Amino acid sequence: MPDWRAQQSTAFDLHGNSTARETITLDLWGKPATIYANANLSIYSAQACNARCAFCVEELRPASRGVALNVQKTVEADNERYFAAMQSVLDGLKPLNPSVSVTGGEPSQDARLPRILRTLQASAARKRTMTSNGSGLLDVREGKPLIDWIAETGVAHLNISRAHGDDRINAKLMRYRASPDAAALREIVRRAQRGGTRVRLSCVLVANSVDDVSDVLAYLDFAQSVGVDNVIFRQLMHTDPTTTQANFVTKFSDRRRVAMTPLLAELARREDFTFQRQVMGYYYYVEVWRYKNIDVVFEGADLAQLERTKHSMPGVIQELIFHPNSRLASTWQPWDGVLGPP
Ligand code: SF4
Repeated sequence: MPDWRAQQSTAFDLHGNSTARETITLDLWGKPATIYANANLSIYSAQACNARCAFCVEELRPASRGVALNVQKTVEADNERYFAAMQSVLDGLKPLNPSVSVTGGEPSQDARLPRILRTLQASAARKRTMTSNGSGLLDVREGKPLIDWIAETGVAHLNISRAHGDDRINAKLMRYRASPDAAALREIVRRAQRGGTRVRLSCVLVANSVDDVSDVLAYLDFAQSVGVDNVIFRQLMHTDPTTTQANFVTKFSDRRRVAMTPLLAELARREDFTFQRQVMGYYYYVEVWRYKNIDVVFEGADLAQLERTKHSMPGVIQELIFHPNSRLASTWQPWDGVLGPP
């Protein structure tokens, strides 16, 4: 295993150790755009989230650029204009054929979700994933449960955020009570699998919650008990204090962050964990392990490193975000790196 664990995303080298190792230049609405060849397109749902996690990344991203979420987020309210712009983006990015993830806010609460999923399916968008807090997945929308829409439109992976196996602790950390309980999760997983969608549980590493190997093992037991064979543990994101507008997420993250590296070192000494691979991202670092029949992923991310990488590679677009205002941008800020449509 190359010695990247200590350096994490600072060791990212687009041509040396990224997954694609190259960029592609394409014509986007009459202008050339040079994009990382394995870039992901995020469809950022306009729907506000019904949870209020103390570690919310949606709140953290604008804060890391000195702006509050409610100041920067605007929404295209007209459905036809919204979907026409999405189609234009999907058509424009065809030569790149990016993977596509639907994220939020909370997409499961978005009235547009079935149509978004159908649009992505009709465009044969590659490796479609969705991230949700799990609420409402069994609710009937446009004639069938949302989870069936997700599976039947060919979503490959459904990430469900859950901070703890225990409902009460999870509700406290995510500050909401609509998380599916174990029985509902089992049903969601069953319906997802029936349609070929793999469910992944996403858990944050938080001091006094899931913060050591025994907590990781207990969480994996919980995942297994509901039929999930894919779990990601996320270190709370780092930000640059000199550019960040402190908010409840930055304060919580700095207070309760659990370092991932010592945890990984401890797992590496165990015989029941088998190392699979490392993934080097432009602001994140991932290790994949195998435990029993579960893929166990660990991710650390640093929004300060994201800015440093961007500045070190001017003109190279690393990721693509279709914002709620129906504009495509190369950043999570709808005011920075806007690409179109015209
Ligand atoms: S579920 Fe996701 S979007 Fe909603 S508050 Fe939690 S981290 Fe933020």
